[in-house]
Amino acid sequence: MRGMPRVQQGARPHPSPRARAPRGWVIPALLIALPLLPYAQAPADLVVLNGKVVTVDPSSRIAGALAVRDGVFVAVGKDTDITPFIGARTRVIRAGGRTVVPGLIESHVHALGVAEGEAFQPYVSLQDIPSLQAWVRRRAATTPDGGWIWTPRTFPPRLSERRFPTRGELDAAAPEHPVVVDGAYALAVNSAALRAAGITPATPNPAGGVIVRDAAGEPTGLLRNVGALLSRFETRTGKDGPPLEWLARVHQSYAAVGITSIVERAASVEGYRAYEQLHAQSRLRLRAVVTLLVQSDGTEDGTEQFLRTVPAGFRAGDDQLKGGALKVFADGGILSGTAFMRQPWGEAAAALYGLANPDDRGFLTLSPDKMLAIVRTAHRHGWQACAHVTGDAGVDAVLDAFEAANREAPIRPRRFTLIHADFANAAAARRAAALGVIVDTQPAWYYKDGDVLAEVLGEARVRTLIGLREWVNGGVRVVLNSDHMFGLDPNTSLNPFNPFLTMYVAVTRRSERGRVIGPEQAITRDEALRMMTIDAAYLTFDETRKGSIEVGKLGDLVVLSDDLLTVPAEQIRDIVPETTVVGGRVVYERSR
Ligand SMILES: [Zn+2]
Repeated sequence: MRGMPRVQQGARPHPSPRARAPRGWVIPALLIALPLLPYAQAPADLVVLNGKVVTVDPSSRIAGALAVRDGVFVAVGKDTDITPFIGARTRVIRAGGRTVVPGLIESHVHALGVAEGEAFQPYVSLQDIPSLQAWVRRRAATTPDGGWIWTPRTFPPRLSERRFPTRGELDAAAPEHPVVVDGAYALAVNSAALRAAGITPATPNPAGGVIVRDAAGEPTGLLRNVGALLSRFETRTGKDGPPLEWLARVHQSYAAVGITSIVERAASVEGYRAYEQLHAQSRLRLRAVVTLLVQSDGTEDGTEQFLRTVPAGFRAGDDQLKGGALKVFADGGILSGTAFMRQPWGEAAAALYGLANPDDRGFLTLSPDKMLAIVRTAHRHGWQACAHVTGDAGVDAVLDAFEAANREAPIRPRRFTLIHADFANAAAARRAAALGVIVDTQPAWYYKDGDVLAEVLGEARVRTLIGLREWVNGGVRVVLNSDHMFGLDPNTSLNPFNPFLTMYVAVTRRSERGRVIGPEQAITRDEALRMMTIDAAYLTFDETRKGSIEVGKLGDLVVLSDDLLTVPAEQIRDIVPETTVVGGRVVYERSR
């Protein structure tokens, strides 16, 4: 369907005339064939010798060597099978027994946002309220009077105080400048920000959001899901899309951890254009599939209108860049207490997130009828739909919409996807599996936040947080990724995008503090690798093009410092790539 012609399966360096030639002709045939041999098989562009090649093919074959020519694998086998492919200009990687895996597919990142963020205000991870205040003070010293200050994204569970800073604490850091602490679905602001935005005790709550107030009705400075009230003051993002050199730099930081393909998970049409430009300038070195965030009023007409703004040819693309799914947001998040839950968030969560009522269950940000209107319209036009949905009640609501769309025409071929689906459960798994729905989820959230959430929600509810085994047992295909949003460091970014940390957490079920909550949810190394290669390729309809090391597939691979399959489990997160290759071209090499 797409792009390049497939190379003949099982292409061999030595076409063997002997096999078919009658006995008496063996020697003459060889005499004729020998001088022709160098021309019979063009040399490869790149070969890897003496490796432990974990192919991730259907039989989980381990090979020793491989060759890539014109961007695709042309041979996979033993060293002796591959050496005939070496020509004068062939790049030869002698792996020295090291493990080689298919190029890793990071199926959920926000590289566009990272690029914009880094260009404007490099991300720092702030660990406590005094550091946050110090950051605000420094910023205020260089910001003109009245200029807005937006902090790096900071979630209360990741602050040592386990709460948002108060309005008073922010006033102390910046009495004159409006300050916004960016907690994604919840914001903490100071008095100057309330004044500048005109938020008073008389201001009504906007639809779907809450201006949190004290007993006297005075806004406390905590704003839940009211981003729209402040978006006109947002200074962080450039209006012209991210600087392309920053986007390329973000991609390079992915290549350095073994990522060869990404899914950009919530782009605007302008964001997609940025990728097109990078591609046109031959600076797109990773493969990218772009998910578009639906901009619609939640009606079928509004959704059709949006679809008409999508560039022609968006979904065609090529092996380097193509358009993918349509995304909607169904609820909030687990780090702001806005995920829509079956059970109330409870007392401890109310304190952590500043909820007025412990019976709060979070909320849907898109009503069921709007969700259905968008999903059914996408389906009718042949799109893959995916929904950001974190809470278990949110998942129930999205599955309702998916089932309704499925009654009109089967959605299985569209590979609809639940994004996050943080609390795995058997009922949801059964429904998802019946529809062929995929789960796109992030072990890093369990790693970073499982400890605090266990205190807040109780251990029982956290046992299934990123409950991979539950989904797998239910027959659901799962893809692992990071939801990377800010920063360039693979381990300290938000969220850490080191795929070996992701696989480490999936396999060990260990949190950042070393706890194991719900050990029964751990998966095997082989499963984790599949979820970041062949299953992730399936997510974007690319399973015949990439995701495994097989003849005819795209020549994407990573040579690893240690053996992912046998290294002690605690060391999986320390694995680093020696070499990352996309389409036979080296895009990263570790310096020694
Ligand atoms: Zn995301």
